[in-house]
Amino acid sequence: MKIRRVTPWNVAYPEPNDSGNTRCLTFCSIEAEDGTTGWGEAITQFPESSRATAHMVEAMGEAILGADPMENIALWRKLHQQSWWYGYEGGPANFAISAIDIALWDLKGKLLGQPVINLIGGAYRDRLPVIASTHAFDESIEEEAEKHGRYVREQKYRGVKVGMGKRGKARLGYDIERDIAFVRMLREAIGPEALLIMDRGQSLVWTRAEAIRRTNSFEEHGLYWIEEPMEPTDTEGFLSLRNHVKCMIGTGEREWTARGFARVIESGVVDVVGCDPGRAGGITGSLKVIELVEKADIWFNAHAWSSAVVTAASLALSASTPRCLLFEMKPIENPMQHELTAEPFGQQDGWVNVPRRPGLGVEVDEQVLQKYRLD
Ligand SMILES: [Mg+2]
Repeated sequence: MKIRRVTPWNVAYPEPNDSGNTRCLTFCSIEAEDGTTGWGEAITQFPESSRATAHMVEAMGEAILGADPMENIALWRKLHQQSWWYGYEGGPANFAISAIDIALWDLKGKLLGQPVINLIGGAYRDRLPVIASTHAFDESIEEEAEKHGRYVREQKYRGVKVGMGKRGKARLGYDIERDIAFVRMLREAIGPEALLIMDRGQSLVWTRAEAIRRTNSFEEHGLYWIEEPMEPTDTEGFLSLRNHVKCMIGTGEREWTARGFARVIESGVVDVVGCDPGRAGGITGSLKVIELVEKADIWFNAHAWSSAVVTAASLALSASTPRCLLFEMKPIENPMQHELTAEPFGQQDGWVNVPRRPGLGVEVDEQVLQKYRLD
């Protein structure tokens, strides 16, 4: 069976979990001679990166026309080889490779009648505990805390991860005392057992002392991990944080290649490695990250905050390794999860099952891609 068509699809959609702001993605469909189609996604976020990625998907797609989708890892290597001039350590070239790679795994699975989890060697576990992964956007911290409490009490999420410094009115991450008050209220709202994770948004600039002070204060309320409290490149900052805090430290989601992840892991500053298959070379690239994580006895955490396609890929990856603690899901219904596919992923009683339908287990509705098409 040969590949006969590779097509990029750019979308711009309102994300209710990000106070309705527009976010962009680049999808990729790969069609085999018999019409079977695989779907992939890159988390391109902005119009300019989406357009650049779509061009690269088109050009790289030409390079794999006529190839056998069973040779997907060989094709991944060829695309990396081809893009060394403009994507040696990442960037939009890696977005394109990510989208193509995920689509190839989906296509391969559909052609073989096997779920991706089987193609990558099988499930270490069949289901994963789910936390609500949010961007704080309510003006009132009391209301924001209470909203998260409802996610845990009423919807049974096993915990929450709150992004600070996000667009919207919450303005978390700017005033230390207010942040500490919020985390105290949050713990009261979600109860003593729920997991509590705080994530500094990249728009926030904290001094090392502020990062340590916040983390120490959050720890008094049972912080599970602090995520990227300083810039990922500030290794010295992370090392000083390590000496001052007891909780786990998360970073990695901004890395593109196994080489970059290896550098972060070898620096000894990370306990929970964030990795987005829609950026880090797809499923093939993320499997290399999992190898590194397993070797270092730390934790893999999928940064799956985009469409159902990356959620499906992330679920398979996360379920494949014992070094995964939980799975993050956006708690508010949204276009790229709930409109995109007739059978969206959801959690039940705080658990999500690993997809078992052939390929990724997601049927993408092309009409939804047309509806949100980025011009
Ligand atoms: Mg994060």
